[in-house]
Amino acid sequence: MPHQNQRGGMPRTKAKIVATIGPACRNEERLAAMLKAGVDVCRLNFSHGDHSFHAESIRLIRQVSAKIGRRVSILADLQGPKIRVGEIKPGTFLEEGRPFFLSTVPMEGDARGASIGYPDLPKVVNEGEEILVDDGKIRLRVTGTNGKDRVETVVVNGGLLNSRKGVNLPDTYVSLPSLTAKDRKDAIFALGRDVDWIGLSFVRKPQDMKELRQLVKEQGKEGLVSILAKIEKPEVLSHIDAVLEYSDGIMVARGDLGVEVSFEQVPIIQKEVIRKAVSKGKPVIVATQMLESMIHNFAPTRAEANDVANAVLDGADAVMLSGETSVGDFPLESVEAMKRIISFTEEKGYCYCPEKRPAASDPDFVKEVISYSAVQMANSAQASAIVLFVEEESAVLRVASYRPCTQIYVFTTQPALGSRLGLSWAVEVFPIEPLERTAQAVAYANEILLREGRVEHGSRVVYLSHIPFHQRGEGMNTIRLEVC
Ligand code: PEP
Repeated sequence: MPHQNQRGGMPRTKAKIVATIGPACRNEERLAAMLKAGVDVCRLNFSHGDHSFHAESIRLIRQVSAKIGRRVSILADLQGPKIRVGEIKPGTFLEEGRPFFLSTVPMEGDARGASIGYPDLPKVVNEGEEILVDDGKIRLRVTGTNGKDRVETVVVNGGLLNSRKGVNLPDTYVSLPSLTAKDRKDAIFALGRDVDWIGLSFVRKPQDMKELRQLVKEQGKEGLVSILAKIEKPEVLSHIDAVLEYSDGIMVARGDLGVEVSFEQVPIIQKEVIRKAVSKGKPVIVATQMLESMIHNFAPTRAEANDVANAVLDGADAVMLSGETSVGDFPLESVEAMKRIISFTEEKGYCYCPEKRPAASDPDFVKEVISYSAVQMANSAQASAIVLFVEEESAVLRVASYRPCTQIYVFTTQPALGSRLGLSWAVEVFPIEPLERTAQAVAYANEILLREGRVEHGSRVVYLSHIPFHQRGEGMNTIRLEVC
């Protein structure tokens, strides 16, 4: 069993848990149990549900979080240019080898054809290209197009076709904008409700993230709401460094990624994206099908337990539950299982250890050296905690990017920081009153950490701050090791 903390609560882990909110967990009691079991970030999936549904979810998350005294972040996940088939007659089955058409004209679909929500499809597809439906479960090959409103295909792999299933075009250049009109409306709605993170699906180029950043700015939320790029299109992989540059975090969205690229590529892409994100100090989530069988079963498969543990070993900041918590039969058990896997993996000491070292060519070389040195000191001293007194997150992300052996506790006067850092590896945030002197702040932090059971009397703690203390907005310049 995973260890309990000193106060008998849930085990504290470094990797965080993101849970998708949906009908299966949208009641006070269930959500409270899930937050207590270890959910750090609640994800609202804007591919489903209208604004009133999401408004109610946000209200409930905040209410439950306040009631149980556990801070959680909210991630609004925008649908992006997801293409879907229209309404389909129930029980429609596509037979292998049969012709099937896709029409841009709205209609009820059946085994002969269906409508598709991408008006330009007949103009952009070419004969021989593949069209994948329902996460690739159904595979069609284009046999012709009239260039106007209808595409002819043949069914390569058949199956049951349901209404509004997603469509992927791995061979085709999709001309849709990355931030669609729906995304803009959804983002404005979410920003108006002070979510902490906004994620964009199907990011293809750095410009997509610039556009989202601009929208956040226009809504007056710059610096208050962070933006996350979902990596699920093959073309984004050649721009990954620039996309990371323009994003505050990143998600390996394996559901669509595993359809857009062949499945054997996904594990290595996951490792590469995590490595790059960690080295740049940007939080990275591994998502989709982590405990998929728990949608209907009370325990995960061996392969799923391995998958979660491997994401932790790869160094991911967070692992995500999708259908398991939004529509599954065992949402609480899924969170508990995930927590147990993370906890056991971390407890056994298989901690991810990046090769990262400060580079003299880095414009932030001095800041990097200070963060690296604090982590080295904490590791050498076998410290129980690294404490940062900061007013902005970059110093925290820098320290976390060296993946110390200890937890990272942040004391800040900025409430928004707490929610955004909810996604970051090993980070826990405590509010602090504006204080004038380092000694006062250290005494205050020690009192809180002892009271909350984060450290014990006699523990070694490394503190990072700025001297003079009241100018700490200028960044960290002092490392201090003490026994508390
Ligand atoms: C994914 O494709 O892995 C993903 C997280 O996106 P969505 O759940 O919105 O399809």
